[in-house]
Amino acid sequence: MKIVNGFDIMEYAKTNNYILPAFNTTNLEMTYAIAKGLNEAKLPGYIQISSNNLRLSNPDAIVYLTRNALKKTDVPISLHLDHGKSYGDVKACVDAGFTSIMIDASHLSFEDNIKTVKKAVEYCHFYGVPAEAELGSIRGKEEDIVSEADAKTDPDLVSDFVERTKCDLLAVSVGNVHGLDLTPNIDLPLLKKLSEISPVPLVLHGGSGIPFEIIQKAKQYGLIKINYGSDLRKAYISTFGEAYAKNHNECNVIELSIKSVENVGQKVKELVTIINRN
Ligand SMILES: [Zn+2]
Repeated sequence: MKIVNGFDIMEYAKTNNYILPAFNTTNLEMTYAIAKGLNEAKLPGYIQISSNNLRLSNPDAIVYLTRNALKKTDVPISLHLDHGKSYGDVKACVDAGFTSIMIDASHLSFEDNIKTVKKAVEYCHFYGVPAEAELGSIRGKEEDIVSEADAKTDPDLVSDFVERTKCDLLAVSVGNVHGLDLTPNIDLPLLKKLSEISPVPLVLHGGSGIPFEIIQKAKQYGLIKINYGSDLRKAYISTFGEAYAKNHNECNVIELSIKSVENVGQKVKELVTIINRN
Protein backbone atom coordinates (compact mmCIF):
# COMPACT_ATOMS: atom_id res chain seq x y z
CA MET A 1 0.00 0.00 0.00
CA LYS A 2 0.94 3.63 -0.28
CA ILE A 3 1.76 5.54 2.89
CA VAL A 4 -1.65 6.42 4.31
CA ASN A 5 -2.55 9.99 5.20
CA GLY A 6 -2.65 10.64 8.95
CA PHE A 7 -6.23 11.95 8.95
CA ASP A 8 -7.38 8.87 7.03
CA ILE A 9 -5.73 6.42 9.42
CA MET A 10 -7.33 8.18 12.41
CA GLU A 11 -10.71 7.91 10.72
CA TYR A 12 -10.06 4.24 9.92
CA ALA A 13 -9.16 3.56 13.57
CA LYS A 14 -12.27 5.32 14.88
CA THR A 15 -14.54 3.48 12.45
CA ASN A 16 -13.09 0.08 13.32
CA ASN A 17 -12.49 0.78 17.01
CA TYR A 18 -8.72 0.27 16.87
CA ILE A 19 -5.92 1.74 18.94
CA LEU A 20 -3.10 2.74 16.62
CA PRO A 21 0.35 1.76 17.83
CA ALA A 22 3.20 3.99 16.69
CA PHE A 23 6.49 2.16 16.50
CA ASN A 24 9.81 3.97 16.48
CA THR A 25 12.26 3.22 13.72
CA THR A 26 15.84 4.31 13.22
CA ASN A 27 17.00 2.47 10.15
CA LEU A 28 16.16 0.06 7.34
CA GLU A 29 15.79 -3.05 9.49
CA MET A 30 13.40 -1.50 11.99
CA THR A 31 11.33 0.13 9.25
CA TYR A 32 10.94 -3.19 7.44
CA ALA A 33 10.21 -5.00 10.69
CA ILE A 34 7.40 -2.60 11.69
CA ALA A 35 5.73 -2.93 8.28
CA LYS A 36 6.10 -6.71 8.43
CA GLY A 37 4.72 -7.03 11.96
CA LEU A 38 1.67 -4.84 11.28
CA ASN A 39 0.98 -6.65 8.04
CA GLU A 40 1.19 -10.09 9.67
CA ALA A 41 -1.14 -8.95 12.43
CA LYS A 42 -3.49 -7.46 9.79
CA LEU A 43 -3.78 -4.31 11.88
CA PRO A 44 -3.05 -0.64 11.16
CA GLY A 45 -0.45 1.58 12.80
CA TYR A 46 2.31 4.10 12.40
CA ILE A 47 5.95 3.87 11.55
CA GLN A 48 7.48 6.84 13.35
CA ILE A 49 10.92 8.35 13.76
CA SER A 50 12.02 10.99 16.23
CA SER A 51 13.76 14.17 15.12
CA ASN A 52 17.03 13.07 16.70
CA ASN A 53 17.07 9.74 14.85
CA LEU A 54 16.85 11.62 11.58
CA ARG A 55 20.52 12.56 11.96
CA LEU A 56 21.42 9.24 10.36
CA SER A 57 18.45 8.35 8.20
CA ASN A 58 17.22 11.71 6.92
CA PRO A 59 13.52 12.32 6.09
CA ASP A 60 13.96 11.41 2.42
CA ALA A 61 15.75 8.16 3.29
CA ILE A 62 13.01 7.13 5.73
CA VAL A 63 10.26 7.95 3.22
CA TYR A 64 12.11 5.90 0.60
CA LEU A 65 12.55 2.93 2.99
CA THR A 66 8.93 3.16 4.13
CA ARG A 67 7.57 3.21 0.58
CA ASN A 68 9.66 0.13 -0.18
CA ALA A 69 8.59 -1.65 2.99
CA LEU A 70 4.92 -0.93 2.26
CA LYS A 71 5.01 -2.43 -1.22
CA LYS A 72 4.46 -5.80 0.43
CA THR A 73 1.74 -4.70 2.85
CA ASP A 74 -2.01 -4.34 2.66
CA VAL A 75 -2.88 -2.74 6.00
CA PRO A 76 -3.09 1.03 6.53
CA ILE A 77 0.24 2.42 7.75
CA SER A 78 1.14 6.10 8.18
CA LEU A 79 4.56 7.69 8.56
CA HIS A 80 4.82 9.98 11.59
CA LEU A 81 7.46 12.37 12.90
CA ASP A 82 7.86 11.70 16.64
CA HIS A 83 8.96 14.54 18.93
CA GLY A 84 9.51 17.01 16.10
CA LYS A 85 12.00 19.42 17.60
CA SER A 86 11.66 22.41 15.32
CA TYR A 87 9.62 23.99 12.58
CA GLY A 88 12.52 23.10 10.24
CA ASP A 89 12.22 19.40 11.08
CA VAL A 90 8.44 19.48 10.64
CA LYS A 91 8.77 21.18 7.27
CA ALA A 92 11.50 18.78 6.10
CA CYS A 93 9.36 15.75 6.99
CA VAL A 94 6.15 17.07 5.44
CA ASP A 95 8.08 18.02 2.30
CA ALA A 96 9.66 14.55 2.14
CA GLY A 97 6.29 12.78 2.32
CA PHE A 98 5.58 12.09 6.01
CA THR A 99 1.81 11.85 6.48
CA SER A 100 1.55 12.68 10.21
CA ILE A 101 3.58 15.01 12.43
CA MET A 102 4.31 15.71 16.08
CA ILE A 103 5.69 19.05 17.13
CA ASP A 104 6.94 18.86 20.71
CA ALA A 105 7.27 22.21 22.42
CA SER A 106 6.11 20.92 25.80
CA HIS A 107 9.35 22.05 27.47
CA LEU A 108 8.47 25.68 26.71
CA SER A 109 6.09 27.92 28.63
CA PHE A 110 2.38 27.48 27.89
CA GLU A 111 2.25 30.52 25.61
CA ASP A 112 5.45 29.61 23.76
CA ASN A 113 4.25 26.02 23.39
CA ILE A 114 1.07 27.35 21.75
CA LYS A 115 3.01 29.70 19.49
CA THR A 116 5.42 27.00 18.30
CA VAL A 117 2.72 24.37 17.76
CA LYS A 118 0.41 26.79 15.95
CA LYS A 119 3.06 27.63 13.38
CA ALA A 120 3.85 23.96 12.70
CA VAL A 121 0.16 23.03 12.55
CA GLU A 122 -0.48 25.71 9.92
CA TYR A 123 2.22 24.24 7.71
CA CYS A 124 0.96 20.67 8.20
CA HIS A 125 -2.66 21.58 7.54
CA PHE A 126 -1.74 23.38 4.33
CA TYR A 127 -0.57 19.98 3.06
CA GLY A 128 -3.41 17.99 4.63
CA VAL A 129 -1.24 16.44 7.34
CA PRO A 130 -2.46 16.12 10.97
CA ALA A 131 -0.32 17.36 13.84
CA GLU A 132 0.16 16.02 17.36
CA ALA A 133 1.24 18.30 20.20
CA GLU A 134 2.15 17.67 23.84
CA LEU A 135 0.84 19.37 26.95
CA GLY A 136 2.52 18.58 30.26
CA SER A 137 5.83 16.76 30.29
CA ILE A 138 6.67 13.08 30.28
CA ARG A 139 9.46 11.96 32.59
CA GLY A 140 12.20 9.53 31.61
CA LYS A 141 14.99 8.81 29.21
CA GLU A 142 14.73 7.14 25.83
CA GLU A 143 17.69 7.71 23.54
CA ASP A 144 17.46 11.39 22.71
CA ILE A 145 14.51 12.21 24.93
CA VAL A 146 15.59 13.07 28.45
CA SER A 147 13.33 14.82 30.88
CA GLU A 148 13.46 15.09 34.63
CA ALA A 149 10.35 17.20 34.66
CA ASP A 150 7.20 15.37 35.65
CA ALA A 151 4.30 17.69 35.03
CA LYS A 152 1.01 15.94 34.49
CA THR A 153 -1.27 17.50 31.91
CA ASP A 154 -3.41 20.20 33.50
CA PRO A 155 -7.06 19.66 32.48
CA ASP A 156 -7.76 23.37 32.86
CA LEU A 157 -5.37 24.18 30.01
CA VAL A 158 -6.54 21.59 27.50
CA SER A 159 -9.43 23.38 25.76
CA ASP A 160 -7.51 26.61 25.35
CA PHE A 161 -4.44 24.75 24.06
CA VAL A 162 -6.28 22.66 21.49
CA GLU A 163 -8.50 25.50 20.29
CA ARG A 164 -5.62 27.93 19.84
CA THR A 165 -3.09 25.55 18.32
CA LYS A 166 -5.63 23.62 16.20
CA CYS A 167 -3.65 20.43 16.87
CA ASP A 168 -5.34 17.18 15.84
CA LEU A 169 -3.95 14.82 18.49
CA LEU A 170 -2.93 15.56 22.06
CA ALA A 171 -0.06 13.74 23.81
CA VAL A 172 -0.74 13.76 27.53
CA SER A 173 1.30 13.19 30.65
CA VAL A 174 -0.68 10.99 33.07
CA GLY A 175 2.06 8.98 34.74
CA ASN A 176 3.43 7.51 31.51
CA VAL A 177 7.22 7.55 31.16
CA HIS A 178 9.84 7.35 28.42
CA GLY A 179 12.27 4.42 28.41
CA LEU A 180 12.55 1.30 30.55
CA ASP A 181 14.26 2.75 33.63
CA LEU A 182 11.10 4.10 35.26
CA THR A 183 7.81 2.32 35.94
CA PRO A 184 4.69 3.89 34.47
CA ASN A 185 1.78 4.49 36.79
CA ILE A 186 -1.19 5.60 34.73
CA ASP A 187 -3.63 7.97 36.40
CA LEU A 188 -6.83 6.71 34.78
CA PRO A 189 -9.16 9.23 36.48
CA LEU A 190 -7.01 12.04 35.06
CA LEU A 191 -7.00 10.42 31.62
CA LYS A 192 -10.80 10.14 31.80
CA LYS A 193 -11.10 13.80 32.77
CA LEU A 194 -8.77 14.87 29.94
CA SER A 195 -10.72 12.83 27.42
CA GLU A 196 -13.96 14.51 28.50
CA ILE A 197 -12.44 17.93 27.96
CA SER A 198 -10.23 17.38 24.92
CA PRO A 199 -11.86 18.04 21.55
CA VAL A 200 -9.21 15.82 19.90
CA PRO A 201 -8.13 12.19 20.52
CA LEU A 202 -5.38 11.47 23.04
CA VAL A 203 -1.92 9.93 22.64
CA LEU A 204 0.15 8.06 25.21
CA HIS A 205 3.92 8.05 24.85
CA GLY A 206 5.99 5.40 26.59
CA GLY A 207 3.79 2.41 25.76
CA SER A 208 6.53 -0.10 26.65
CA GLY A 209 5.79 -1.18 30.21
CA ILE A 210 2.16 -0.02 30.42
CA PRO A 211 0.01 -3.04 31.35
CA PHE A 212 -2.39 -4.08 28.61
CA GLU A 213 -5.47 -3.90 30.90
CA ILE A 214 -4.67 -0.23 31.43
CA ILE A 215 -4.42 0.35 27.68
CA GLN A 216 -7.79 -1.36 27.22
CA LYS A 217 -9.31 1.02 29.75
CA ALA A 218 -7.55 4.00 28.22
CA LYS A 219 -9.23 3.14 24.94
CA GLN A 220 -12.55 4.09 26.52
CA TYR A 221 -11.04 7.44 27.42
CA GLY A 222 -10.25 8.76 23.99
CA LEU A 223 -6.90 7.02 23.45
CA ILE A 224 -6.24 6.61 19.74
CA LYS A 225 -2.43 6.32 19.52
CA ILE A 226 0.18 4.71 21.74
CA ASN A 227 3.92 4.95 21.16
CA TYR A 228 6.33 2.03 21.43
CA GLY A 229 10.06 2.69 21.24
CA SER A 230 11.99 0.82 23.92
CA ASP A 231 10.47 -2.64 23.37
CA LEU A 232 11.53 -2.61 19.72
CA ARG A 233 14.96 -1.16 20.36
CA LYS A 234 15.58 -3.89 22.89
CA ALA A 235 14.51 -6.60 20.41
CA TYR A 236 16.79 -5.08 17.78
CA ILE A 237 19.89 -4.55 19.91
CA SER A 238 19.63 -7.91 21.70
CA THR A 239 19.74 -9.71 18.34
CA PHE A 240 23.27 -8.41 17.79
CA GLY A 241 24.28 -8.42 21.46
CA GLU A 242 23.38 -12.07 22.00
CA ALA A 243 25.20 -13.17 18.85
CA TYR A 244 28.31 -11.27 19.91
CA ALA A 245 28.14 -12.62 23.47
CA LYS A 246 28.02 -16.15 22.05
CA ASN A 247 30.81 -15.62 19.58
CA HIS A 248 33.21 -12.68 19.65
CA ASN A 249 34.21 -13.51 16.06
CA GLU A 250 30.64 -13.16 14.81
CA CYS A 251 30.82 -11.22 11.53
CA ASN A 252 27.67 -12.24 9.69
CA VAL A 253 25.98 -8.84 9.54
CA ILE A 254 23.50 -9.71 6.82
CA GLU A 255 22.14 -12.81 8.62
CA LEU A 256 21.91 -10.94 11.92
CA SER A 257 20.22 -7.97 10.23
CA ILE A 258 17.65 -10.30 8.69
CA LYS A 259 17.18 -11.94 12.08
CA SER A 260 16.69 -8.51 13.67
CA VAL A 261 13.86 -7.79 11.19
CA GLU A 262 12.32 -11.10 12.25
CA ASN A 263 12.69 -10.40 15.99
CA VAL A 264 11.49 -6.79 15.88
CA GLY A 265 8.65 -7.80 13.54
CA GLN A 266 7.51 -10.44 16.06
CA LYS A 267 7.48 -7.84 18.83
CA VAL A 268 5.42 -5.47 16.65
CA LYS A 269 2.93 -8.21 15.83
CA GLU A 270 2.61 -9.20 19.48
CA LEU A 271 2.05 -5.62 20.70
CA VAL A 272 -0.42 -4.49 18.04
CA THR A 273 -2.43 -7.69 18.51
CA ILE A 274 -2.62 -7.53 22.28
CA ILE A 275 -3.60 -3.84 22.50
CA ASN A 276 -6.43 -4.48 20.03
CA ARG A 277 -7.68 -7.65 21.67
CA ASN A 278 -11.31 -7.36 22.72
ZN1 LIG B 1 7.64 10.26 23.36
